[in-house]
Amino acid sequence: MRCPFCGADDSKVIDSRLSAEGDSIRRRRSCVECNERFTTYETAELTLPRLIKRDQSRTVFNEDKLRSGFLKALEKRPVSIDDVDSAVKGIIRQLIATGDREVETRLVGDWVMDALRKLDEVAYVRFASVYRSFQDVNAFHEEIERMKSLPESATKE
Ligand SMILES: [Zn+2]
Repeated sequence: MRCPFCGADDSKVIDSRLSAEGDSIRRRRSCVECNERFTTYETAELTLPRLIKRDQSRTVFNEDKLRSGFLKALEKRPVSIDDVDSAVKGIIRQLIATGDREVETRLVGDWVMDALRKLDEVAYVRFASVYRSFQDVNAFHEEIERMKSLPESATKE
């Protein structure tokens, strides 16, 4: 592994540990040239289904895009990065669980909405308004009313 500080080609692993979820390995490395320390993560690469967009074009699933979507919706909201990461992981698990080679983006959008609703109601409304691109104010209003009628336990955890 190349050292990100000095660019030397070699580094040695000084510590390895499994993440709490058991799905990644965190390694502490030390550069053999400059002795700087850095961390790398190792995860299994899984083949995720491709996404079918509304216009029927296909695209590859992009975890970074999903995460930045969450972060954007949760901007200035009291939600920790750990919770965002678990939400992202949850969506990936759902994608893999379909066992399909292709999945409609709409379905992923629904999962994102479910995850957001659990994380933060304000962010959920923010995302829903953009994602569903409500045709008129009434549809948006109905959605908010529907949310209000949900039992407290269904919207907050
Ligand atoms: Zn170095």
